[in-house]
Amino acid sequence: MFDLTTRDIQFLSGVGPQRAAILNKELKIYSLHDLLYYFPYKYIDHSHIYRISEIDGNMPYLQLKGQIQRFETFGEGRQKRLVAQFSDETGVIELIWFQGIKYVTGKYKPNHEYIVFGKPNIFNGKVNIAHPDIDNASEVVLSSMGMQPYYSTTEKMKRSFLNSHAIEKMMSIVIKQLQEPLPETLSTKIIADYRLMSLTEALRNIHFPKNPDLLKKAEYRLKFEELFYIQLNILRYAKDRQQKYRGYVFGTVGDTFNTFYHQNLPFQLTNAQKRVLKEIRKDLGSGRQMNRLLQGDVGSGKTLVALMSMLIALDNNYQACMIAPTEILANQHYKTVKSLLKGMNICVELLTGSIRGKKRKAILSALLTKEIHILIGTHAVIEDTVNFSSLGLVVIDEQHRFGVAQRARLWKKNIQPPHVLVMTATPIPRTLAMTVYGDLDVSIIDELPPGRKPISTIHQFDNRRESLYRFICQQVNEGHQVYIVYPLIKESEKIDLKNLEEGFVHVCEEFPEFKVCKVHGQMNSMEKDEQMQAFVSGKAQIMVATTVIEVGVNVPNASVMVIENAERFGLSQLHQLRGRVGRGAEQSYCILVTTYKLAEETRKRLEIMVRTNDGFEIAEADLKLRGPGDLEGTQQSGIAFDLKIANLARDSQLLQKVRDVAQAIIDADSAGSNPENEIVWERLKTLRKMDVNWAVIS
Ligand code: ADP
Ligand code: MG
Repeated sequence: MFDLTTRDIQFLSGVGPQRAAILNKELKIYSLHDLLYYFPYKYIDHSHIYRISEIDGNMPYLQLKGQIQRFETFGEGRQKRLVAQFSDETGVIELIWFQGIKYVTGKYKPNHEYIVFGKPNIFNGKVNIAHPDIDNASEVVLSSMGMQPYYSTTEKMKRSFLNSHAIEKMMSIVIKQLQEPLPETLSTKIIADYRLMSLTEALRNIHFPKNPDLLKKAEYRLKFEELFYIQLNILRYAKDRQQKYRGYVFGTVGDTFNTFYHQNLPFQLTNAQKRVLKEIRKDLGSGRQMNRLLQGDVGSGKTLVALMSMLIALDNNYQACMIAPTEILANQHYKTVKSLLKGMNICVELLTGSIRGKKRKAILSALLTKEIHILIGTHAVIEDTVNFSSLGLVVIDEQHRFGVAQRARLWKKNIQPPHVLVMTATPIPRTLAMTVYGDLDVSIIDELPPGRKPISTIHQFDNRRESLYRFICQQVNEGHQVYIVYPLIKESEKIDLKNLEEGFVHVCEEFPEFKVCKVHGQMNSMEKDEQMQAFVSGKAQIMVATTVIEVGVNVPNASVMVIENAERFGLSQLHQLRGRVGRGAEQSYCILVTTYKLAEETRKRLEIMVRTNDGFEIAEADLKLRGPGDLEGTQQSGIAFDLKIANLARDSQLLQKVRDVAQAIIDADSAGSNPENEIVWERLKTLRKMDVNWAVIS
């Protein structure tokens, strides 16, 4: 059998051990197979010459044929640029160079026919191409060339002359060797049903497409396959888990739940909370192990849903536990839960990393004797030393700090895995949820408790501090509290902390009549707690903090969130921070402070924040702006986000489609024995072996 995976790249003609080593290191290309799956990032259509009159704002790389009318230079020093007027019969555009001016004017002559390649831009209403490739028109053979692929390369590669052109050459040698078709990786049925190109044709055309239409078909086939196996993997895994583990059956909703509902619940549940609780109750009673993701914007009341789900566990004689990502948050949940359960005979305990010695020992043993009904804690709860008598439900709050592997460790806390409810306030775009949390069922709270006023968000440049301080002063005098948040990024931690300290001193000087507290990650938990407490109790009116307060802290009296250097935060992080205010009935404000000079992308980000309070809209926008790899919640998910060809922001429709295809196959062939699907199951097996990242999931 013709197996490319076993053919070492160094034996390809023109490669050799040295270049092979560079390809291994820079692009992780080891075999001919790896090379074939290194796809171009763009193409130039050499079969077609555009006319200048056809060009509009948004065109790919293209080629024009015409003459240079004249050269002119503008600017001085580093600003210096060379501009050529280039024309054909239909119009004129500018060619621009910022470097190599001497070389260009020496090489290209006016009134001579050239073919020019490049990507047109529009600037000040004029079309230009910067640093175009130029060839003598007489030397270019058009029709036969088709579309030329361009491959990304690294600096190191370029130094060894492994540029795009070199890769193109290697690729063409490999493609020529593909005399026989490669073994197909999708079943005949799928290929027929969805009219897909064969694998071999797709690989040929992704590198050397004869025309744009064939390129599209090749892309479609390869994207389909890439997304299909991700979905098949995750859905197969969920199905196997369902078959392997039974879930504890919580058959009754009893006294504990009902007493709470009728006597302790301080307000009416929102309709969304009721709906979600129903979904959870159904899971818990079904005999299947629940794995549910609960999404709800900040302040939508997830804690209450979590608590009531835990009460169902208690009603069925099981223990429950709730895990938060930080001590501050665990503390706060502990207090909230205790006060909500006041007067009921339920033992709630707190376990965090800073609870040690005797106290810890006592908690551990009370967990085993079932004296403790509900445990609230941090990661410390996952440690192997923490064991329960009968853990039935685990709630994980703010999941994006929890890896998939950690989730899996929880399953071992009882004979059968307990039910798992994962809560997140960072709404995840649907495509991403399907991929990262594709094995979880999803519930959504899409409604805020009544009486909340939408937060008003303002973007302000940092030269207008006076009006900002006046505003803060006014708000505090009206009895409200104010957060001022500084960024904290690991790489620049020292500078960030310095900024925060300076900011703190500054704020103290500016508002001598107010008490200002301060929280950052470098404090020990006692200090932190003390400072937090000062703010929560209302003793301090202003809190200066880093993002440690990002998650979950609840002070309804706080009405202003000032975010310094807002340009350095991601969208979902800004949204999280903003969610710390607007929890009371009063009008709240979020003020995004930035420098005046902002990158285009940053400006867009801030505009989105000002425009909308909708977390889902923000998450979608974030995905489009930054790509999935940078989004919070994906980094620790253990999923390979360096998709080779599909794009989660752009290919959402296809993703949904292949998910349905994968689900249908699993449902119809749950034993994996239908010969029709043999190729598919074999391929899944191979991929699971090949890809380290997938192993984390399965
Ligand atoms: P999050 O979803 O961000 O975790 P919380 O659970 O902290 O939100 O709830 C935010 C606030 O809303 C809390 O003060 C909580 O008591 C309150 N709350 C929750 N549910 C309701 C409700 N149905 N009606 C009124 N207030 C509610
Ligand atoms: Mg919360």
